[in-house]
Amino acid sequence: MEGLGHPATTALSRAPMGRVFVAGHTGMVGAAFVRRLAREPDADVVVRSRRDGLDLTDRAAVDRFLADVRPQTMIVAAARVGGIQANATRPEEFLRENLAIALNLIEGARRAGVSRLLFLGSSCIYPRLAPQPMAEDSLLTGPLEPTNEAYAIAKIAGLKLAQACRRQHGLLYHSVMPTNLYGPGDNYHAEDSHVLPGLIRRFDEAARTGAPEVGAWGTGAPRREFLHVDDLADAGIFLLRLAEPPDWVNVGSGVDLTIRELTERVAEAVGYRGRIVWDTARPDGAPRKLLDVSLLTRLGWRARIPLEQGLSETVAAYRRERAAGIWRH
Ligand code: GDP
Repeated sequence: MEGLGHPATTALSRAPMGRVFVAGHTGMVGAAFVRRLAREPDADVVVRSRRDGLDLTDRAAVDRFLADVRPQTMIVAAARVGGIQANATRPEEFLRENLAIALNLIEGARRAGVSRLLFLGSSCIYPRLAPQPMAEDSLLTGPLEPTNEAYAIAKIAGLKLAQACRRQHGLLYHSVMPTNLYGPGDNYHAEDSHVLPGLIRRFDEAARTGAPEVGAWGTGAPRREFLHVDDLADAGIFLLRLAEPPDWVNVGSGVDLTIRELTERVAEAVGYRGRIVWDTARPDGAPRKLLDVSLLTRLGWRARIPLEQGLSETVAAYRRERAAGIWRH
């Protein structure tokens, strides 16, 4: 594919995964990779949290850690993430922290001799008005969605750094571009979360308290695609097994729905029967975000968890996490 640099093939790599450092294992995505890697016999997973002294925005700390652990493989699932409100109101934090994490980990990996690296991007890196569904080669063809521009610029820089390491140094560093993810261990912050956890939290509360109405943001007209995080981790491992993966590849379910349809599904999943009120003072964000997943489909992978099943499992996980007091804020 033009712009992707390396023709993708389905030939498998013979290199074992070896020691795999999953950066960001306390987040929803990193935790899903750790769960998925437990099924790979040749993977020896290593994690280190901020509480145990590894601040990924601190270059010297990252270098010391990598020199000590010497991983063969690295999965960069660490990021400062958040929904439309958090991104739009704290752009400096989102840009600086995500740039630092990408640079420290990718550059640290190169210097520590990590032979294989998977960088997690995001579908918001594509232009706001990219033709839908969005193909890999629409990257850098137009202006970004302003509500998440800071995050997107940092992710584009990380993806390009991984690509440059491959081009200039022959290192097998590559990226995945997931669509909107959901699943266990999500961030349920009232203002900072993404739409699905935000709705699950508010609608569940409204169902419990018997509230007559509950708010949702924007007009409800934007269209979004959702992927269960376990599907993403499966796709990531699939790509890490390829001998010549694409420099970056979209991972999605291939289907989208309106935010209005999504709220109805969440209402049903939590058992809420009241009215839904649309707060149109809140931003809508991009009008549509659906990934073109034909490249990954051609390589032989497709999503398996339908939204209905994933949603009801996530609501159950949310209730367990809430009861145990282990929400991520
Ligand atoms: P985006 O995909 O980057 O725009 O980020 P979000 O997941 O935060 O928002 C997706 C869409 O859902 C936007 O149109 C929001 O206005 C809308 N939305 C509706 N209700 C909520 C909510 O409770 N929280 C969030 N974050 N978005 C909501």
